Amino acid sequence: MKVIVSARALAREMDRLRRQGKTVGFVPTMGALHDGHLSLIRRARRKNNVVVVSIFVNPIQFGHGEDFTRYPRPVGRDKTLCLRAGVDYIFMPRPASLYPKGFGTFVEATELSRPLCGAKRPGHFRGVTTVVAKLFNIVKPHAAYFGAKDYQQAVVVRRMARDLNFDIKIEICPIIRERDGVAMSSRNVYLSPEERRRARSLSESLRYAWKMINKGERSAQKIKAAIRSILGKNVSKIDYVEIVRLDNLTVLKRLSGRALIALACFVGRTRLIDNVVVKV
Ligand code: AMP
Repeated sequence: MKVIVSARALAREMDRLRRQGKTVGFVPTMGALHDGHLSLIRRARRKNNVVVVSIFVNPIQFGHGEDFTRYPRPVGRDKTLCLRAGVDYIFMPRPASLYPKGFGTFVEATELSRPLCGAKRPGHFRGVTTVVAKLFNIVKPHAAYFGAKDYQQAVVVRRMARDLNFDIKIEICPIIRERDGVAMSSRNVYLSPEERRRARSLSESLRYAWKMINKGERSAQKIKAAIRSILGKNVSKIDYVEIVRLDNLTVLKRLSGRALIALACFVGRTRLIDNVVVKV
C-alpha cells in the first residue's frame, strides 16, 4: 500500500495503471474510518483491480461553527485499517495543495443540494461536489463508492457526475449500523454514554415508520409526526424529518413508489443523520 500526498504523483500512478488496463475503484472519505467506510472499500476491492481511498477533511464543506477543527483524525489507525482491507493507494492531500491561494472555482448540483441537509447547512454540498470533482479529476476512477448513510450526498454526486460528463460509475452502498441500530459515523465519538443511548431513537423512529407503512399508512404527515414523537426528548433539536421521492428528493405528501425517509437532529451538541429507503 502506498500513501501519497501529492495530487500530481497520484495522477501519474493512476495514468500508468489505466494504461496497463487496470480498473480503478475509488472511495472518498474524511478518515476516522469505521465499518461503514470499510464496507465501501471491500466493495471497491471486489470489483476493481486497484483501490484508492482518499482521506481528506475537506474544509470547504464545513460551515462556520461546525466541527472542522475538532473532527477526529486518527491517521495511524486509518492507515492500518486500509492496509488490512487491501487498499492499494491512500491519497492524503494537504488542504493548501487542493485549495491554493486564489482558489475560486466551485461545482454545485443546484437542484438536489437545496432540500434536507442542504437547507440546514448552506454551502455544504457545494463543498462536497467541488472536492469530489477535483478528486475525480485526479484519480480518474472507473467507479466510485458512496454510502447510503449520506443518501443526499450520494445522489448529489451522482447528478454532478452525470451533468459534468464524468465517465464514472457511482455506486451507493447500504448503511452499516452498530448492533443497537445506530448508524456508524465518525461523529459518534463525540457522544457521551448517555447521548449514545439516546442516539438509538433515530434508527428506532425509522423502524417504527417502516412498521406503519407495512401496516398500510401512506400519509407522510402522520409518519413524520410519529417519528418526531419517538425522537422527542432524546434529541436536543430536530433539523428536519422529511419524506421525499428517492430520485429527485421532492417532498411527498402521500407515499408511493420509492421514497427516502430522512432525518437530521442534534443529540447534545452532535448533529446526527439517518435515513431509510422504502418501497410502497
Ligand atoms: P465520511 O468519511 O463521513 O465523509 O464518509 C465517507 C463515505 O463513507 C461516504 O460515502 C459515507 O456515506 C460513507 N459512510 C459513512 N458512514 C457510513 C455507514 N454507517 N454505512 C455506510 N457508509 C457510510
